[in-house]
Amino acid sequence: MVAAMAALDHEGFAAAPRLGWVTDASPLEEAPRLAAAWGLEALWIKRDDQLQALYGGGKPRKLDYLLAREPLASAPRWAAAGAIGSGAMVALAAAAEQLGRSLDAHLFWTPPSDGVLDNLAFTASRADRLWFHDSRAALAVSRPAVLVGRMSRGAAVVPPGGTSPVGMLGFVRAGLELAAQLEERGAAPTRVYLPLGSGGSAVGLATGLALAGCDAEVVAVAVVERPLSSARRIAALTSSLHEELARWGLAPPPRPPRLTLERGHAGPAYGVTTADGVVACEALCDAGVTVEPIYGGKAAAALRQDAARGQVARAVFWHTARRGPLPHAPDWRERLPVALRRRLDDPRWERVRARRRVLLALGAGAAAAGVARVTGYEAPAFHGRVLGDVEALVLGAAAEALLEGASPAELAGIARRVDAYLTALPPAAVTEIHALLALLEHGTALGGRVRRFTSLSPADRERVGASLAARGGVLRDAARGVEDLCALGLYQQPSSWGALGYQGPMVGPGRRGGWPAYEAMRAPRGAVPKAATP
Ligand SMILES: *Cc1c(COP(=O)(O)O)cnc(C)c1O
Repeated sequence: MVAAMAALDHEGFAAAPRLGWVTDASPLEEAPRLAAAWGLEALWIKRDDQLQALYGGGKPRKLDYLLAREPLASAPRWAAAGAIGSGAMVALAAAAEQLGRSLDAHLFWTPPSDGVLDNLAFTASRADRLWFHDSRAALAVSRPAVLVGRMSRGAAVVPPGGTSPVGMLGFVRAGLELAAQLEERGAAPTRVYLPLGSGGSAVGLATGLALAGCDAEVVAVAVVERPLSSARRIAALTSSLHEELARWGLAPPPRPPRLTLERGHAGPAYGVTTADGVVACEALCDAGVTVEPIYGGKAAAALRQDAARGQVARAVFWHTARRGPLPHAPDWRERLPVALRRRLDDPRWERVRARRRVLLALGAGAAAAGVARVTGYEAPAFHGRVLGDVEALVLGAAAEALLEGASPAELAGIARRVDAYLTALPPAAVTEIHALLALLEHGTALGGRVRRFTSLSPADRERVGASLAARGGVLRDAARGVEDLCALGLYQQPSSWGALGYQGPMVGPGRRGGWPAYEAMRAPRGAVPKAATP
């Protein structure tokens, strides 16, 4: 507690502006019966759902700091991006109402579940303007400022998920708060489990615990797809948070934050429940704690499994979700953009998703137009129909650096897949792709490097991408374009579909066993309608 209180009372940290929405500590409850059922020595549940502000949950902790800082503090209009069922958007819509601000909500598609619809109904009831984008990639292409900028068309931008160096301060505070509670009770859990979306909660928490000298390891259970839950992202968030802490005179923790990324429970895709997650929710519900299956259920499933394997004896489960249900305007569906309303009613979305992603990714290349194509050095013969030998090499090098988790076989197939796709594109788009790859290979000088992109180590290639992105404007769009092209090459490969929740074409030659989700909906052969049986 000494360390925890010292950091909380630290003059600098206390001086970081905040709205003061989160004042009292959220309850830390012991759950002995559930602990016994799961084979744990001890289990505590950190009840952020009981926080007062904005219907509770972890998001108010971030907004407490984020909304107290410019440009958001004084802007009359905010803009934010999130999935249609985003919990961050719900908290923000509630905050906008409370503070009398107007909110532009940019929503992108995820599979609708009950929880998603409850959040969407609230957002649609409160936000002043709603936009619908087919995917995160589509949003990145059409309105990049809403994802990475500070301002978008006169509105101050709230970073996605409320995750930014400033927003994470709220979870540093949460880590200090938990450390103090544990110290007070003489409790020493070995692990703290929580879901990982945009990553700010887990990174802030791990940093806060480290600052307090608490040894518990944070297990961040990914509920989003791999490219969004990379170790690279965690590392970047951690170092940006350290810079923010330094601004308030706090040295980085004496030891690195203990954070383990657990990816085995995400299920087929964000927003899709898993059987283990639902089982864990039911157990928690029996213990008197309501947890939703999209975030909390998956984190609890990881905890339950680790306990069963004897990997954890004393654990904290961090309840990150808000309370429900939320109030809705009766006409919330009519307020939705037409395209979204139609999409919600269309059962075929699963099939078009992968294809959309691809088309939009190619659009991102447009921003790099105007950079000359450079030719004239050696690379292995690729025999592409559109891509040159050097270009195939550049694309492969980018994919290796950017696509964490892709297998060597998948990486090897990327240039070939992209090449095949480019053959169907109009010449203007192809020109832009050539320009994009040339920029990447020879534009490294912009990042202060003299060597070509393909001759750099994978880690340095990642840094080139990050430095392009940090420069904003066309260069940032180019960095995104390259990432999207790599993703396009990966997602065309059937081996990657499982991670997306895409089950492949519903019809077509050589597809054995049919389309499982479709088959599961059909009655068995020979079944008779209920009404027809006497
Ligand atoms: C947003 C959210 C999280 C994840 O927080 P991140 O900081 O985005 O990783 C966890 N649980 C719930 C219920 C959330 O809404």
